Amino acid sequence: MVDFGGDEQFTASDRLNVKMEPQCNKGAPEDLHIMYSATGFLLPCCLCDSTKANHDHFAAIGFFDEELRVENNDNLIDIVTSDAWNEFYNSLEDNPSGFGLPPECLKFCGVPYVHNKAIL
Ligand code: SF4
Repeated sequence: MVDFGGDEQFTASDRLNVKMEPQCNKGAPEDLHIMYSATGFLLPCCLCDSTKANHDHFAAIGFFDEELRVENNDNLIDIVTSDAWNEFYNSLEDNPSGFGLPPECLKFCGVPYVHNKAIL
């Protein structure tokens, strides 16, 4: 995990020092990592709902919208293929600096990016 000194807000410069290695988006599609929160929602990992701040960050990108509550769906596929989930997974692709991702993702799934590694 990258140490950002407890700062939950990442500047663009901070993000350029990180390379995202999302744990929830590796392996084959059938290996999709999902957790079921006690609050009644599916989430990509347990961090999404582990603190109020984390919850608020993931709520801001739609993961806690009422139409995604498990009891409001007949099929879980409808949840994990919803706009919120698709947009989240799209933002993990070709986005090594994690722009637009919640800070928890950079803290948990970001590794230090060594600039100019080729000349070291
Ligand atoms: S912290 Fe973010 S990127 Fe990492 S596993 Fe959880 S949801 Fe995925």
